Amino acid sequence: MRAPLVIGNWKMHGTLVEARALAAGIRDGLKRPRGVQVAVCPPFTALAAVSEILAGTPIQLGAQTCHHDAAGAHTGEISPPMLAELGCRWVLVGHSERRKEIGESDELINRKLRAVLANGMTPVLCVGETSDERRQGLTFTTVEGQLRAGLAGLGADEIAKTILAYEPVWAIGTGVNATPAQAAEVQAYLRGLLSELSSKEIAQTVRILYGGSVKAENADALLAEPEVDGALVGGASLNAQGFIGIVRKAARIGTATKE
Ligand code: PEP
Repeated sequence: MRAPLVIGNWKMHGTLVEARALAAGIRDGLKRPRGVQVAVCPPFTALAAVSEILAGTPIQLGAQTCHHDAAGAHTGEISPPMLAELGCRWVLVGHSERRKEIGESDELINRKLRAVLANGMTPVLCVGETSDERRQGLTFTTVEGQLRAGLAGLGADEIAKTILAYEPVWAIGTGVNATPAQAAEVQAYLRGLLSELSSKEIAQTVRILYGGSVKAENADALLAEPEVDGALVGGASLNAQGFIGIVRKAARIGTATKE
């Protein structure tokens, strides 16, 4: 049994005032989420404030990226120990926006992922193909390359502590989500690779989220797929009610169908 996990990725949205209001709205609307794990990843500047607002609630804190070193001359960067100190439990690594806009390589993403693990947090490794790659029949090749490189050098016990997020680039922020069948097909393929890289048993325990234009209206169908263990939510996580709607659907499916 893999408990559903829903993570909100706020990206570069939210002044302190806005982030506090959003966190409070989610906290107040989700008093006791059952059958689902929930986390939000605010911008760095809001982590401390959101951490205070969510203290004592089951809603956990995550970060959108990190540097791979613990400290050093890296102007503008944030290290894993800094995030852990603020109460972060999750760190996204390899988000397609960072791969594209910042030029993060698979090798760098692997270093970050290992640093997150070394600091006792859970990395969420994002993989996904562009629309061109899908058109050219390269979906599996792309996600396989990203997965193998992202998890390079990890032992089976470390793979067991990692979360994957399948996020087709063409579905992120476009309003066009992958169909449940498309998500399930790729996620089953990823699970097969995890099996090869760790063991069949471990692969069965690793959660694979789907991300890409998830909203309350399409969450039911996506989360009903046995291969979809939750959602990484961008745009729809910026509205407390919208995010809560997705969490409730995940909770219902987590406690009913998949148990
Ligand atoms: C994301 O950024 O991880 C994401 C899935 O965004 P959106 O939900 O807006 O497509």
